[in-house]
Amino acid sequence: MSQALNFLSLLTGSFASPAAENPTVAMIEAAYRHHKLDARYINCEVGQNGLGDAVRGARAMGWAGFNCSIPHKVAVIAHIDNVADSAIIIGAVNCVVSRNGLLVGENTDGQGFVTSLRTVADPQGKAFVMFGAGGAARAIGVEAALAGAASITVVNRDPKRGAELVALLEDKTPAKAELVVWDQPYRIPEQTDIVVNATSIGLFPDVDRRLAVVPESLRPPMIVADVIPNPPRTALLHDAEARGCVTLDGLGMLVNQGVISVEHWTGIVPDAEVMRETLQHLFS
Ligand code: NDP
Repeated sequence: MSQALNFLSLLTGSFASPAAENPTVAMIEAAYRHHKLDARYINCEVGQNGLGDAVRGARAMGWAGFNCSIPHKVAVIAHIDNVADSAIIIGAVNCVVSRNGLLVGENTDGQGFVTSLRTVADPQGKAFVMFGAGGAARAIGVEAALAGAASITVVNRDPKRGAELVALLEDKTPAKAELVVWDQPYRIPEQTDIVVNATSIGLFPDVDRRLAVVPESLRPPMIVADVIPNPPRTALLHDAEARGCVTLDGLGMLVNQGVISVEHWTGIVPDAEVMRETLQHLFS
């Protein structure tokens, strides 16, 4: 007897605005194809007023889950059933997973960063300097702290936003945190282990923009990581490499947050290299 045919794919996707330039669909569908999964990732343009309906639609259609990007990472919390512990601390959700009929919010941005970091160093006991205090910085700061970072110096232009992140890290994680208001070129302290650019400086098309740092304070054995995925090789990484530092690009974070999302939705750990190659090809 022939096997019953099944024309119902596992559905996942993304709700964001603007959505057109988000490359995640290419990366995740490449993984689905590579692993021969009967699954789809649908990139949806969803504005602020449409988020509730979009989430109810995903629920009604039995989606396995979805990503949320700008401007929904905080607002989506009001439309789902549960939020994972680290996402509660971060205060934002970028990945929703359907578990036993309930929609659960996760934050995979910071976890993706830490997975990428672990390819070159264990965050345990390390001294971090992190530029920025926005959404990416909150996710990275919290996950690095939960992964054992000893201290995180937040260097941010807006003192209020910087102070909020420092208070969050001090109150909700075991790491020590302090704020440096970024109003002049910053000299990175010699004892720093890991330097992170979590600002939007260097993002395409402003590819020549540089962080205001004292150039000679970037030095080995510091590890220098950038969140900017496009272009993968930013001016910061170029400068850090020229000074002999080990560097990590923003593609590593982007790919690994996708790996974690796919694992949540399908139970399969996808091949990160296939996903990275897809993005590299798109950004070349
Ligand atoms: P936010 O708007 O929430 O935060 C932006 C941060 O950048 C703020 O701290 C802001 O400082 C700082 N900043 C921006 N311009 C300047 C400047 N000229 N000088 C000094 N500081 C500046 O953005 P997100 O945190 O959501 O995103 C930041 C970057 O991270 C984006 O480029 C995004 O592409 C990238 N990202 C990468 C991911 C990946 O997987 N690789 C995942 C998520 C984000 P202030 O507070 O003073 O305004």
